[in-house]
Amino acid sequence: LASRDPPRIHRLDESVVNRIAAGEVIQRPVSAVKELVENSLDAGSTSINVVVKDGGLKLIQVSDNGHGIRREDLPILCERHTTSKLSAFEDLQSIKSMGFRGEALASMTYVAHVTVITITSGQLHGYKVSYRDGVMGHEPQAIAAVKGTRVAIENLFYNMIARRKTLQNSADDYPKIVDLLSRFAIHHKNVSFSCRKHGAAGADVHSVAMSSRLDAIRSVYGASVANNLIKIEASDANPSSSVFEMDGHISDPNYSSKKTTMVLFINERLVECTALKRAIEIIYAATLPKASKPFIYMSVILPPEHVDVNVHPTKREVSLLNQEVIIERIQSTIELKLRNFSEASTYQEQE
Ligand code: ADP
Ligand code: MG
Repeated sequence: LASRDPPRIHRLDESVVNRIAAGEVIQRPVSAVKELVENSLDAGSTSINVVVKDGGLKLIQVSDNGHGIRREDLPILCERHTTSKLSAFEDLQSIKSMGFRGEALASMTYVAHVTVITITSGQLHGYKVSYRDGVMGHEPQAIAAVKGTRVAIENLFYNMIARRKTLQNSADDYPKIVDLLSRFAIHHKNVSFSCRKHGAAGADVHSVAMSSRLDAIRSVYGASVANNLIKIEASDANPSSSVFEMDGHISDPNYSSKKTTMVLFINERLVECTALKRAIEIIYAATLPKASKPFIYMSVILPPEHVDVNVHPTKREVSLLNQEVIIERIQSTIELKLRNFSEASTYQEQE
């Protein structure tokens, strides 16, 4: 077009806006699984079971035994910005739940077919409802149900041709989903998790509620990991520099692996912190001559005002207030533990 007239600006159709936004919240099958499992955890579930078909493109089904959803809330369940977890912006500072935006379920209905079966305690039967584009498709149908909620996401990205093709052509998300559930399973040791492919007899993650973290790690990552771990703890209560508490398990010098596994929870949220991961790898490389890459499970608790939870839903990468101080404290704790371990074993050999 040779014309020098500027193009007209118009308002995008709401359905277009919603689909674009949904594609950002739910980037791939594993992002849908994360949102659903976090909803199940927020609902106080002690048992969460995941079934995946075709890497999540055909079906993702998450069943829990949580508190369920009221019949009268079902009409707005999948509308954007409907939530039971947040009311005032100020609440964000003290929020304990993982969700708060009321965007996840809505997003899924814009890029997939969503069916919910749910029952609240004391009810004789549950309800089944299907949703599309934020809207309930029919009146809730009475259906027999056990405690909790089951959400099924079918035909993910059916209306986003390019996304679906890209995902179909690459390795599917199932290993990512298994990895995600493994991480949740060792942190939430009082919740039993399972994850399996649709139609498969056996589960690829299977954890039962455990009394100890080490047992949880053993059941998910195996004895070769669990037998070579050192417990670590650190805390700092000096308000002028930093306030934090950390506890976890790190691999000892006998552990061997080609890649780092870092399972990090900050204030109960599964996150990634590249700076911290690198800092720990450096300590391992410096302290252990034949450096294997470490296995790290770590839970860090910080004052809520030191962590901004209101980042984009899919941004798992965090940065923290006083990050340098915290990283240094964690580094020196790990270094000391590794040195003590090595000295103790040298001493034993000499005896
Ligand atoms: P958010 O988690 O940010 O509130 P979601 O779209 O993920 O938003 O969920 C909307 C609401 O639906 C939640 O606030 C919760 O009340 C309800 N909900 C979703 N999943 C479950 C579940 N598995 N069990 C009970 N309630 C649920
Ligand atoms: Mg949620």
